[in-house]
Amino acid sequence: MTRALYARIRFIYGGHDFRFEMNEGANQGAPGPRPGRWGEVLGETLRAWLSLLCEPTCPGCDLPWADSSDPFCGACSPLIEPAPAALRPPRRTAALFVYAGPLADSIRRMKYAGRSEVARPLGSLLTTAGVHYAGHVDRIVPIPLHPSALARRGFNQSVLIARPLARALGARLDMETLRRIRPTRAQAGLAAEARLSNVRGAFAARRPKRCDRVLVFDDVRTSGATLASAALALRAAGFRDIRTLALATVVP
Ligand SMILES: [Zn+2]
Repeated sequence: MTRALYARIRFIYGGHDFRFEMNEGANQGAPGPRPGRWGEVLGETLRAWLSLLCEPTCPGCDLPWADSSDPFCGACSPLIEPAPAALRPPRRTAALFVYAGPLADSIRRMKYAGRSEVARPLGSLLTTAGVHYAGHVDRIVPIPLHPSALARRGFNQSVLIARPLARALGARLDMETLRRIRPTRAQAGLAAEARLSNVRGAFAARRPKRCDRVLVFDDVRTSGATLASAALALRAAGFRDIRTLALATVVP
C-alpha cells in the first residue's frame, strides 16, 4: 500500500525523486520559528519514515534504483534476455523476453506480493521493445483475470503493464470485449495437454462493432495456450486481424 502510494506520488511529480525534494525543502529552511527538541525528533522520524517510503527500487532486485531512463538497475538489466528468435516479433504470436532472472522476479513481485507499482518499469520495458512491432493495432486486449482472481489480487497486472503501450500506439485499451467465463488453474506445472484443456472455453468475447486490428496481451506466456484460447474466442466473435504478444515467455 505504501509503495503504491509512493508510485502515485512519483507519477504526480513526473518521476522526480520525491525524497530528494523533501530533503531539499527541509534544508532550505525558510526563516521561522525553530521547532522544539521533540519537534525535531518527530521531524527526523517523519523524514526517516518518508525516506523509507519514498526509496525507489529496481523491480528486479528491489535494491535502491532511481534512474528513470532504465527500468532495471545496472546489475539486472544485462540479465534480461530477448525471447528466442522463433517467438520474436514480427511473428503474429510473439513474446519479447525470456521469463527468467530479474524479469521473472519483478513479475512475481507484482503478482504475488501486491506490488502494483512494478507495472511502471515493466510497462516501460514493454513499450520500448513493443512499440515498433505492434505499430498497427486499434485495440489492445489484456488477458482478463477471472473476477474471483481479480478480487483477490486487486488489480490485473496485464492491464497495468499494457497501458503505456496502448498510449504510445494511440490504441484503445479494451477491458470489456474479452471476458474470462470460468476460473482456470495456473498454467505453470501442467503438462501440454492439460494446459490446453485447462484454458479451452475459458474466454468469451463480444461481437465487435468494427473489425478492429487486435493485439491480445499477456504478461507471461507459458505454452501459448491461454493466448491461443483468447484469440479463438475473439475470432469466434468476429474479429479477423488478431495478434498476440507476451512480455515474457517461459522457455523449456
Ligand atoms: Zn536490479
